Amino acid sequence: MDSTKLKRRGLMYVLSSPSGAGKTTITRALLKQNNDLTISISATTRSRRAGEVQAQDYYFVDIPEFNKMVDDGNMLEHAKVFGNYYGTPRQAVEEALANGRDVIFDIDWQGTQQLAEVARDDLVTLFILPPSSRELENRLRNRSKDTLETDTQIRDRMSKANDEMSHYSEYDYVLINEDIDKTIEQAQMILDAERLKRRRLVGLSDFVRGIKDGL
Ligand code: 5GP
Repeated sequence: MDSTKLKRRGLMYVLSSPSGAGKTTITRALLKQNNDLTISISATTRSRRAGEVQAQDYYFVDIPEFNKMVDDGNMLEHAKVFGNYYGTPRQAVEEALANGRDVIFDIDWQGTQQLAEVARDDLVTLFILPPSSRELENRLRNRSKDTLETDTQIRDRMSKANDEMSHYSEYDYVLINEDIDKTIEQAQMILDAERLKRRRLVGLSDFVRGIKDGL
């Protein structure tokens, strides 16, 4: 038996970055590569963008519904990001972890800080940086081609990106996304190594006892 087959606690893998740094691509790749990884689908009060699917990209809710989820204690964390409310529904995460699955989160630094308060031992946090300001601006401009954003909107996104980036030092790992394939590989390596942390391998003590007993 190798260590990857031992019973272990699921972990919470948080990815944060300014928009345009590649976080969505990395998250999708990790989900494809890891059958035992589940994505946490957030609830948000922001309006649905073209192509977004209810209960797949987000649970799109109105403000009273959102507030009720918070008041009922059904959010693991919640925050206001760029004028809209976002939060992580508690139940799906707790169920996945209880079933030994890992959960990946695409949330901002505020949510990451709150998760650290409630679940530091289960948390692994990763921040993705763009390789340069010019590259970030190029990516934001390319992405906004469809939505015909103005220069002012792009500048606004750049300034929000700078705010988000100022929190990189609160994260366990920081990757500079120069090459997307390499960054995905590194994000996978971190996940693999974190899964092998001794404190997560709850099946280890039985295994060692078995060796001592000559099994
Ligand atoms: P967007 O509206 O572009 O999908 O997301 C905007 C920002 O909100 C992103 O930085 C994203 O990581 C963050 N975000 C999405 N869901 C949550 C959540 O449940 N909690 C927190 N704190 N941030 C979130």
